[in-house]
Amino acid sequence: MARIPLVDLAAAYDRHRDAIDAAIRAVVEETRFILGREVGEFESEFAAFCGTTHAIGVASGTAAIHLSLAALGVGPGDEVAVPAHTFVATAEPVSWLGARPRFVEVDAETGGMDPDALKSVLDRVRAVLPVHLYGLPVDLTAIGALASAAGVPLIEDSAQAHGAEYVRDDGSVVRAGAYGRIGCFSFYPGKNLGAFGDAGAVTTSDPALAERIRRLSDHGRTSKYEHLTVGYAARLDTVQAAVLAVKLGTLAEGNRRRRELAAAYRSRLDGVGDLVLPAEPPNRRGVYHLFVLRTRYRDGLLAHLREAGIGAGVHYPIPLHLQPAYAALGYKPGDLPVTEAWARECLSLPIYPELTEEQVETVVAEVRGYFERV
Ligand SMILES: *Cc1c(COP(=O)(O)O)cnc(C)c1O
Repeated sequence: MARIPLVDLAAAYDRHRDAIDAAIRAVVEETRFILGREVGEFESEFAAFCGTTHAIGVASGTAAIHLSLAALGVGPGDEVAVPAHTFVATAEPVSWLGARPRFVEVDAETGGMDPDALKSVLDRVRAVLPVHLYGLPVDLTAIGALASAAGVPLIEDSAQAHGAEYVRDDGSVVRAGAYGRIGCFSFYPGKNLGAFGDAGAVTTSDPALAERIRRLSDHGRTSKYEHLTVGYAARLDTVQAAVLAVKLGTLAEGNRRRRELAAAYRSRLDGVGDLVLPAEPPNRRGVYHLFVLRTRYRDGLLAHLREAGIGAGVHYPIPLHLQPAYAALGYKPGDLPVTEAWARECLSLPIYPELTEEQVETVVAEVRGYFERV
């Protein structure tokens, strides 16, 4: 009985039901299921939104990362710098290609890849793959400069950061996925821009790289039955593109609303218990895919909220370097203490554009209620 869910996909559909239904019906009636017109149209609109010259629709956010690394030639013997505090999909494709994820410590305040920690692994890596975690851009100036100095590409895992903004030292603004060589986006249903199934995109302003990624996503094809390289089956399907094109029109407004809700939580939770509220450095505008608190009482607060019917979450409880799947890499508890503290203390509160002020008040009252009793 989650009275207030962590995300509410039904509410999002309700708001745009007619337009979405019409868009899906148009694809179905013309049976343009693979690489229909809507795919190219969505790609152009998404590239324009992000500020890149190219966007390539792909099968998922994970596929976006996989194809990007493959197009850059990452393979056996290579290492790729990945933050330790993220969803596993950031690292999996590195392993699929026979390369080794090099788990990097994160920043204590933001949870994003720590540039100082990146320095110590930089001599060995073929690519740098930070994550704009929870929708907040990482320190792109510092991380970008380190990647440039090492002569390796910067790939932005922007799966949680559609439309997040970063202000460069010269005052110009760049959106997530447009700063580095490549941006990787997920349109998993619960993301800020969500499809009705799995979907993703790669953004870049490098035409040759865009062509390679597109070719790899479609069986390495140069024509219907000529295959230049061994590729993958990882295209964005037309029904998803049609849904995404409708929802892209509401993304900026949805992000604005998420920022409003974050501000509401922030003002009402400031100073409560030992809570640490999400940081937002002055040169970054996050899009609050998640609103993540930190507290030493995380497990108790989580149980209390769930009991009260509030869909709180933990993103993420087990750091990648301590995942059973990566045991063979030889990391042990204590290797990345800042990451491990995030995993122990982080808690996500419900946030989505359709969340109401009253619901925020209900969540806040339960959080306050918990800290009055501990
Ligand atoms: C969601 C997500 C992905 C993977 O996206 P899928 O579309 O689910 O494959 C990758 N990285 C991060 C940080 C994510 O949140």
